[in-house]
Formats: sequence, C-alpha cells, structure tokens
Amino acid sequence: MTCFFCKGEMKPDTTIHTVQLKNCVVVIKNVPCMKCEQCGEVVLSADTIEKIEHILQTVEKAVAEITVVNFPDCAA
Ligand SMILES: [Zn+2]
Repeated sequence: MTCFFCKGEMKPDTTIHTVQLKNCVVVIKNVPCMKCEQCGEVVLSADTIEKIEHILQTVEKAVAEITVVNFPDCAA
C-alpha cells in the first residue's frame, strides 16, 4: 500500500482517533491503522471505521465531557 499524498510506504501501526460529538470529545486509543512512513498520513480501514461508529454509539449515551476509550477493549 502506498500513501495517497506522498506515495511513501504505508505500514501497519496504531493511532489515537479523536472524535468531536455534539457536546463532548471522545478519544479512542490504540486504533489499528496504516501509517505513512514519510508524511505520517493515517488511513483507517472500512472495518475499523465501522467499529469506531459502533463504539461512538455506545459511548455517546453515557459520556462525560471528555471520554477516553481503548480500541481493542471496545472493538471486540
Ligand atoms: Zn505519505
């Protein structure tokens, strides 16, 4: 897989994904992704995005102003 922006090499990695909802911020740690070695661009798979959507639906019901979740714990 090559980077959409700089054509650099993309390698499997994990990232922190931050989402702003209506009245709070959710920080998801350890999200699996492909990351560009050159420019640091991060790409999430469709499967991962789907899991994030699911996590957000669950989390949105019972969140504080800032919520931090661990992706591997919530995506299972
Ligand atoms: Zn790149």
